[in-house]
Amino acid sequence: DDRRRTRTVRGPGRTSDGHPVKLLLNIGSAADLAPRDRAPSAEGVDAEGVGLFRTEFLFLDRREEPGYEEQVAAYAAVFRAAPGGHVVVRTLDAGTDKPLPFLGLAEETNPALGVRGLRVSRVRSEVLDTQLDAIAEAARATGAEPWVMAPMVTTVGEAADFAGRARARGIARVGAMVEVPAAALRAGRLLKELDFLSIGTNDLSQYTFASDRQHGELADLLDPWQAALLQLIADCAAAGKAAGKPVGVCGEAAADPLLATVLVGLGVTSLSMSAPGIPAVRESLAAHSLERCRDNARLALAADDPAEARKAIVPGR
Ligand code: PEP
Ligand code: MG
Repeated sequence: DDRRRTRTVRGPGRTSDGHPVKLLLNIGSAADLAPRDRAPSAEGVDAEGVGLFRTEFLFLDRREEPGYEEQVAAYAAVFRAAPGGHVVVRTLDAGTDKPLPFLGLAEETNPALGVRGLRVSRVRSEVLDTQLDAIAEAARATGAEPWVMAPMVTTVGEAADFAGRARARGIARVGAMVEVPAAALRAGRLLKELDFLSIGTNDLSQYTFASDRQHGELADLLDPWQAALLQLIADCAAAGKAAGKPVGVCGEAAADPLLATVLVGLGVTSLSMSAPGIPAVRESLAAHSLERCRDNARLALAADDPAEARKAIVPGR
């Protein structure tokens, strides 16, 4: 039965021939790490850490910015509860699509292309500085060594500025999400400023295919099996390999068990997803050798559309 099947494959993520792939959790708060949310089976999901802590949930629906002490407490709670103590914190991903009244941002006719993510620090840089202070303080208080990354990084200059601010506060591992094609195209250069990259396929699809990620009519364009998206992921992973630095995927694509083999074949080093996705991805990786993952990646990159890509790949082969 299902419970027995998920029990057969446990422990760290790896291919059938032992190539390690970190399986990590996407969370919005410490509550997402509570046992009841963790697992379909009594043993729980043994993720190797948190690959995406979306901190904006602390800021949403608020008239005023959460205070420094409140932020320290919220981050410390996650650092204490995280499996293996490994947490990748994403700084505030706000903008007019996730409106935060206290930021006082101007209305925009095209919010997805406006002042969102890291760009908010152009107009309210003290909000990012306070958040970085609070993350650093929570790390000291708990003895954690969080990795910290910014959303919507677009240029090398932005990455360098963010890295400078984070390192000035003693944060040792600083990275960026790759959600904008411009960042993917310059991944090698970004990795001269940064310690890691995490590819957000939800937004990277939106911006690569010029298709609103919420737009039901355009689902075929937003399909993560699209070769153009996979090509950008391949380029980022190759840049990571050349630099000897981790490149993960933390968008929805990571939770598709067969696509996970493709991502690993492209060279991605971690897959981060919400808890329910982990057992099936672990099982799928355990059923494929690294060589087979690389074959799958070649097949998917060669396909002209997502349906052709899926058809070319036989599960478990
Ligand atoms: C993404 O864009 O893929 C991502 C993981 O970030 P979010 O879904 O929070 O925008
Ligand atoms: Mg995103």
